[in-house]
Amino acid sequence: MKKIKMKTPLVEMDGDEMTRVIWKMIKDILILPYIDLKTEYYDLGLEYRNKTDDKVTVESAEATKKYGVAVKCATITPNAARMEEYELKEMWKSPNGTIRAILDGTVFRAPILVDGVTPYIPTWTKPITIARHAYGDVYKNTEMQIEKGSKAELKVTDKNGNEKTELIYDFSDSDGIIQGLHNKDKSIEGFARSCFNYALDTKQDLWFATKDTISKKYDHRFKDIFADIYEKEYKARFEAVGIEYFYTLIDDAVARVIRSNGGFIWACKNYDGDVMSDMVATAYGSLAMMTSVLVSPDGKYEYEAAHGTVQRHYYRYLKGEKTSTNPVATVFAWSGALRKRGELDATPELCKYADRLEKAILQTISDGVMTGDLAAISSLKNKQTVDTETFLIETGKRLWSMQDE
Ligand code: NAP
Ligand code: MG
Repeated sequence: MKKIKMKTPLVEMDGDEMTRVIWKMIKDILILPYIDLKTEYYDLGLEYRNKTDDKVTVESAEATKKYGVAVKCATITPNAARMEEYELKEMWKSPNGTIRAILDGTVFRAPILVDGVTPYIPTWTKPITIARHAYGDVYKNTEMQIEKGSKAELKVTDKNGNEKTELIYDFSDSDGIIQGLHNKDKSIEGFARSCFNYALDTKQDLWFATKDTISKKYDHRFKDIFADIYEKEYKARFEAVGIEYFYTLIDDAVARVIRSNGGFIWACKNYDGDVMSDMVATAYGSLAMMTSVLVSPDGKYEYEAAHGTVQRHYYRYLKGEKTSTNPVATVFAWSGALRKRGELDATPELCKYADRLEKAILQTISDGVMTGDLAAISSLKNKQTVDTETFLIETGKRLWSMQDE
């Protein structure tokens, strides 16, 4: 068989623990037999990050800016225990945080739906993609405890030294608390463009919601920036592909989301996104089936699985056990990245391959062959729990038989 040629390399970011093991299996079993794979390889495994003083993470993000598409394996974010385990020079920052800061992107998380696994909300027959604004608000706040008898004010000094002051609260009757939040127009604009681009890309409606009736300046600013950018830059393109941008109050959005069938993108402010993405992920059944893509406002893409390095399985693997770790979200990270590469390079064979790869995965699961986490929640009668490698080999058989379709 002739292998599919690639024009531009993918940025490949390798990672840690069980997902690093799975990474190699996926390449060997499902990718290398079909594609003349061109990647620019960056080893984001903790050992090499430590060796390079974490420069490799920055370089991988710069490469993503250059080539436009990356695929990333899950990586360890060091904590005190990891400092010892890996004899680290420093407690290096989260690679995802570093990459996101360099690309200035928004993370879109979407579940993979399969036969036999019904979401807790059974009417959600299509995926709900959550886009979380990853800057500011309560995550970069200033807080104070206030003693009774104090007066709290908000004070701003402009560039000419003029001061503007507003009373927050006069704590004459009780002790209390205050908090100062901020966001930047520039960051909100980037968030909005990432969302509009991703909606166009995936041909899905975009919903956005805040509490602008209560927060008449802060949340209202988000609403206005989205509306303004939509009108000026995206309205015509949305109409051309038949999708819609829809703004509503956050309370109304929550009610509509529950009643919906899915199939749209829900853009959320930072805190709403933090909370709602966990709710949505749980409702769809399994963290192991959640994909994640970082999209920058200027259209650079980094694909990954939403889960971590599955440490507990890795320790069992090190003892020689065959684990039944679910590789599906990591496979979809590869298919997502290869499809995007194919679109950007006008190599339709690559896009077709990505479609077949995803189809083969879904076919394998609906044939009853799956990893333990899915078997535990699947309603299929003929289900059979297999280890990761067997699952990938079974997927490979189905992928092979689709070659001449
Ligand atoms: P995790 O790796 O997501 O795993 C938590 C638990 O969820 C696992 O023990 C497993 O449950 C289940 N699980 C997750 N993915 C699975 C899969 N593919 N197949 C089957 N089961 C799966 O989270 P963690 O244990 O909290 O974190 C481990 C490391 O990952 C940490 O060092 C953290 O920093 C890192 N992390 C990285 C990323 C990223 O790179 N994007 C994201 C999150 C965490 P059972 O053990 O019950 O089977
Ligand atoms: Mg959360």
